[in-house]
Amino acid sequence: MSRYYDFDYYDPSKTSRERDTAGVGPSFQECPVCHTSLVQRRDLVVNKRLMRGKDISLTYANQVILSGQVGRLLQEQDLSGLELRPVQHYKKPYPGEPTLYQLAVTNVLPPMAAPPTEFEQSHNCAVCGRISRFLKHTHWWGRIQYREDTNVYYPRRVLEVVKDFNHTAEYFGELRVAHPYVIITQRVYRLLREHKVKNWAAVPVYLVD
Ligand SMILES: [Zn+2]
Repeated sequence: MSRYYDFDYYDPSKTSRERDTAGVGPSFQECPVCHTSLVQRRDLVVNKRLMRGKDISLTYANQVILSGQVGRLLQEQDLSGLELRPVQHYKKPYPGEPTLYQLAVTNVLPPMAAPPTEFEQSHNCAVCGRISRFLKHTHWWGRIQYREDTNVYYPRRVLEVVKDFNHTAEYFGELRVAHPYVIITQRVYRLLREHKVKNWAAVPVYLVD
């Protein structure tokens, strides 16, 4: 879920010159060396106007933002493995300001089965210990690097611990923006489709014995 990249949002922790958010401080405690996000310290602050009728979006730091409608849908269904955090607007409230939620996934899966899952370009921060990588393969298109995700495999016994929403144990991307992937159950997949929720994509996860 949510490989849907949307760079519309900003978080003031990433743009310290923004006067309106002076003094708010970063949303996440960051590693002083690699700047990877560690522990969340406060609600996310975004420009809510940029949601513009989207159902789901992402911040620069790959945090998942849900529309009020999608947030309420998940709450009504009593799904497991998630919490919804409030999201604040970066300026004064405005008429018609929407309620938005941050999808805070609370269940972390055990490591993927690797192989057959394959990784490349592992980065390791010696200070905070964060390891981040990419699912292989990398292609070059002229000078443009293009990373094609390969399949994700889990040991079948993962079914004993899976919840409706899960984070991978693995982090992906450059360390500064390293983030886990979100893994959802078929129940969530069908629910989102049945309710015609837009702005997300998912690929199958494979189970191996
Ligand atoms: Zn670090």
